Amino acid sequence: MSETPLENVVIIGSGPAGWSSAIYAARAQLNPVVYEGAITEENRMAGTLPLGQLALTSEVENFAGFPAGNLSGFLDSALPANRRGMMAPHAGEGVTGPELMELMRQQAVNFGTRVITDDVAKVDFSTNPFRLFPSAGGEVQAKCVIVATGASANWLGLESEERFKNRGVSACAVCDGALPRFRNKELVVVGGGDSAVEEATYLTKFASRVHLVHRRDELRASKIMAQRAIDDPKVEIHFNSTLEEVLGDDANGVTGVRLGSTDSANEATTIEVAGVFLAIGHTPNTAFLDGQLETNEKGYLVWKKHFRTNTSVDGVFAAGDVADDYYRQAISAAGTGCMAGLDAERWLAHG
Ligand SMILES: Cc1cc2nc3c(=O)[nH]c(=O)nc-3n(C[C@H](O)[C@H](O)[C@H](O)COP(=O)(O)OP(=O)(O)OC[C@H]3O[C@@H](n4cnc5c(N)ncnc54)[C@H](O)[C@@H]3O)c2cc1C
Repeated sequence: MSETPLENVVIIGSGPAGWSSAIYAARAQLNPVVYEGAITEENRMAGTLPLGQLALTSEVENFAGFPAGNLSGFLDSALPANRRGMMAPHAGEGVTGPELMELMRQQAVNFGTRVITDDVAKVDFSTNPFRLFPSAGGEVQAKCVIVATGASANWLGLESEERFKNRGVSACAVCDGALPRFRNKELVVVGGGDSAVEEATYLTKFASRVHLVHRRDELRASKIMAQRAIDDPKVEIHFNSTLEEVLGDDANGVTGVRLGSTDSANEATTIEVAGVFLAIGHTPNTAFLDGQLETNEKGYLVWKKHFRTNTSVDGVFAAGDVADDYYRQAISAAGTGCMAGLDAERWLAHG
């Protein structure tokens, strides 16, 4: 007799999508297992430690149900002591990303979700039960799988960029643009595609001026989007320019940037800004799937049924940013996580 455990549902990933699908699957008595990722230097560098992207940020102001206010007492009662110690002390205003993620994790655990702190390194979806191979070794089999491994924002890899992350450097204008530190200040957006242009024009709502820094001599964005940025009096485009260094100090965070030039006729410049937004794309975390699920042209998993989370393999569902190159928000990831949990339950009941 095989010793390989056979699970009803294995959920891979530990962002809002993974925990929401676990809450639904656990409440449906499916006894789910979540592989939340491994705590390794490689995952730290890639921004894929357990608890997902939201654990990389400070305040979360736009997740419904968490208005500004002092949550300390609630956190003390909601989380066991061994998990409370893992977070920075509560800032006193609203919920932080790590707190929100710990609360989601705990809610899933309260309903009986089992959590394994490891990566799924490889899968075999060619037969059902599906076969999953964790990094630590061994094999797990599952009747049904939910892939909720998220996506990682692309960074330039500068040391100064890393130093000022969450202190003026961000990869999400919609998430962070409205924060007080950016209001009525000059900001930089790096990139030249549609999302860079969209982020730049979005940030003009808050900023006094937005510098769009692009390394080529024309924007890659669609014509209509590019024209919008060109016509916007609050957007200044720096063509043939690269971000060389984020300037700042410990007390103030970001105070400026040093730009280099790809055009030898231009000199390097320094501008004073309070924020730097990277908009050079995201990479969905799908490498471990080795092409076994259909993806779109950007590499994101494809939902094969309208308003359902079914992937190209029957019995495998996808939730959150790994299948969403458009909204990329915690609340939308949680929403599709709920859908995947319900889709898995119904698939197990009816096939
Ligand atoms: C700096 C920053 C700030 C943000 N701020 C906000 C905000 O204020 N509000 C908002 O709504 N959104 C915000 N977002 C976006 C939001 O965090 C994401 O939309 C959301 O986290 C996506 O959730 P997800 O569940 O799809 O996956 P993720 O949060 O990406 O989590 C997936 C996780 O799964 C795990 N994983 C990956 N691969 C494997 C594997 N092979 N095996 C096991 N585990 C694996 C990893 O731990 C990974 O981190 C922010 C994003 C960033 C980067």
